[in-house]
Amino acid sequence: MLGYLFVANYFLLGSLGRNAVSAFNVAKFGGTSVANFEAMSRCAAIIENNPNTKLVVSSACSGVTNLLVELANGVADQARRQEVLNQLAQIHNEILDQLADPLSVEKEVHIILDSVATAAEAASYQTSTKLTDHLVACGELMSTHILAQLMRERDIDAVRFDIRDVLRTDSNFGKAEPQLDAIAQLAQDKLVPLCQQQVVVTQGFIGSDEEGNTTTLGRGGSDYSAALIAESVQAAGLEIWTDVPGIYTTDPRIAPKASPIPEISFSEASEMANFGAKILHPSTLVPALRHDIPVFVGSSKEPEKGGTWIRHQVESSPLFRALALRCNQTMVTLRSANMFHAYGFLAKVFEILAKHKISVDLITTSEISVSLTLDQTDTSGGAPELPQAAREELEELCTVEIEQNLCLVALIGNNMSESKGYAKQVFSTLEDFNLRMICYGASPHNLCFLLHESVSKSAIQKLHRELFEN
Ligand code: ADP
Ligand code: ASP
Ligand code: MG
Repeated sequence: MLGYLFVANYFLLGSLGRNAVSAFNVAKFGGTSVANFEAMSRCAAIIENNPNTKLVVSSACSGVTNLLVELANGVADQARRQEVLNQLAQIHNEILDQLADPLSVEKEVHIILDSVATAAEAASYQTSTKLTDHLVACGELMSTHILAQLMRERDIDAVRFDIRDVLRTDSNFGKAEPQLDAIAQLAQDKLVPLCQQQVVVTQGFIGSDEEGNTTTLGRGGSDYSAALIAESVQAAGLEIWTDVPGIYTTDPRIAPKASPIPEISFSEASEMANFGAKILHPSTLVPALRHDIPVFVGSSKEPEKGGTWIRHQVESSPLFRALALRCNQTMVTLRSANMFHAYGFLAKVFEILAKHKISVDLITTSEISVSLTLDQTDTSGGAPELPQAAREELEELCTVEIEQNLCLVALIGNNMSESKGYAKQVFSTLEDFNLRMICYGASPHNLCFLLHESVSKSAIQKLHRELFEN
């Protein structure tokens, strides 16, 4: 219990970020944290235990976004569509039934369920990214009605707030870009005064564009929402409550001997998020870093276990900090003899990629070829595709080979590019693996490898055993 009290009191006792104005915290609860009545009750207990937490950002109940994505992709088979709708109703009704006063929010939740049914039918004829965002946002819109009511029933003075009134984005449906100035202004006008009076329960993941259309920040985007909201209200701290007690040396589902990291720097944690550690959406730490807001990651199921603090200054900066895995990688290899000792080839390649709005993630070059991986462009979670038009233009310059079913394994640490002697240990651990690409040197914080999907987890397990379990 001591650990939990420490966690609860830490933000209370002057852990204010440099620029903090609102002396309150923002707490984000992920899908498993609000999966059912018991889980939601644990979230409420966390809020009760820290009166300094005034703003709650919630995900959709576990599994709901996946069901909504299925509907948004268009389910032509009416029986299957109905089955998905029934599952959605069941998840929410089960929680509603356990409230003392379900009627107080049942109508609101059922109106949203009805709108899901209508939109799902429309999507079965014709899908669009705009319709998808309208549909997938419904998970958070429902969970927050229920969570706010559950808190009220525990005597927390909680009010539900529709974050679309504050979280302004562009209209890039599926991966909308937040508009920071508008968000800051709207938050100061609408959100901060409310937080001074009540606990505000609002949605992660969603926003709205200037025309009032619902947008989303991309899968797993509630972490990012919470950080944007924390920034906009100039919060004292950001708490990310999830299903593991902190950030581990690697995904504990892959390496069961992974251990929690009590304290990690913003740069290390950002690298982990960028390189696929699902625990944090890749953009989460950008707003927190901009405003120097300390971030805590802990388990809503076991808050007494403590968690990870992400801060600017940390006591230790080990050479090896963690391993991350990002799958669904697409590697494009461009080969041309004309590249040999010539200038301008890469400029032409990047001009084509830029014209087609293709963002490159990693790149390595040799004398006659260049290999690059494509950035994930939308929320589908699938491997990014090289558009046919871009491929045709590239083929006028060189041969184009595309490889998928690849994963990126990243070894994250400190001063890696300046340290000697460890490469042998890393590469001998991986000697049985076919490394499709290696990136090293540009960042002092990482060394990464592209491997076939089928062996990527065993590469992580082997590296973890060798580098972290002694
Ligand atoms: P939430 O729904 O709360 O946002 P997520 O499922 O998105 O939760 O993220 C939590 C999961 O992230 C954990 O259950 C774990 O499997 C995974 N994960 C990946 N890398 C790490 C890591 N380095 N440390 C802890 N968890 C990790
Ligand atoms: N509900 C959304 C998702 O599942 C956002 C989130 O949970 O972070 O992707
Ligand atoms: Mg998540």
